[in-house]
Amino acid sequence: MQQKSEQTNMKDGKMYPIEIKNLSVTYRTEPALWNIDLNFPEGKMIAIVGPNGAGKSTLIKAVMGLVPITAGKVSIYGKSYSKQRSKVAYVPQRGSVDWDFPTDALDVVEMGLYGKLGWLRRPNSNTKKKARECLEKVGLGDYADRQIGQLSGGQQQRVFVARSLAQDPEIYLMDEPLNGVDAVTEDTILSILENLRKEGKTIVMVHHDLQTVDKYFDWVVLLNRNLIASGPIKEVFTKENLDTAYQEKYRVSFR
Ligand code: ADP
Ligand code: MG
Repeated sequence: MQQKSEQTNMKDGKMYPIEIKNLSVTYRTEPALWNIDLNFPEGKMIAIVGPNGAGKSTLIKAVMGLVPITAGKVSIYGKSYSKQRSKVAYVPQRGSVDWDFPTDALDVVEMGLYGKLGWLRRPNSNTKKKARECLEKVGLGDYADRQIGQLSGGQQQRVFVARSLAQDPEIYLMDEPLNGVDAVTEDTILSILENLRKEGKTIVMVHHDLQTVDKYFDWVVLLNRNLIASGPIKEVFTKENLDTAYQEKYRVSFR
């Protein structure tokens, strides 16, 4: 019998951006994630798909140690998240953010840079400049001084994307950034992500719209507490797998 290797998985001599081994997360009694084994490939647009309560947000949070892991292990390029946090940026689900917080758009973006400042923790003209550039990239150059609570939902989402860009990470973890946003925001975010992918960055996005999965993504992770399937869209985004994930017949047009 072959012994299971304890070594870090590698592909062509390179480490995976994210490696998840036997991960389980239990908040109270019921597990939200059960025994997930998963490697995320580098330089791909990856969708995490599954019904409400499937553990999609939990999976993203577990990668960053934001929820207690009951069992298993997560590695970022072969090391713990705490050693690699500068390589990872997170765009939280919009509903989970307190928009009454009294801060303007530029501040939100600049805060993304604090982790990079090292011992000299005070923001300076460089961080302001960088933050402004990132706001311009998401089409919000004129909104720098606007209180975030006064921005539209789509604009708020773009501010958080700008914040992640300012961090200049290798891996973007995004929780439903396209949910309920206007068309301008969707197009802006998608074209930014397309450029990031061309630069070899890895984008992991919780995505709710099954109709656009094969259009936007290279790779899909189907989740429903258990891992249903993970792989290239063509191999994995099948009716059978969707039926298993959603426990019902799901209408999606397949190419
Ligand atoms: P999804 O993002 O796929 O909708 P979540 O990861 O948010 O799913 O939640 C998975 C399950 O864990 C759900 O049953 C949810 O109610 C539960 N859950 C999520 N966060 C918490 C928490 N902080 N405390 C207790 N239960 C939670
Ligand atoms: Mg969620």
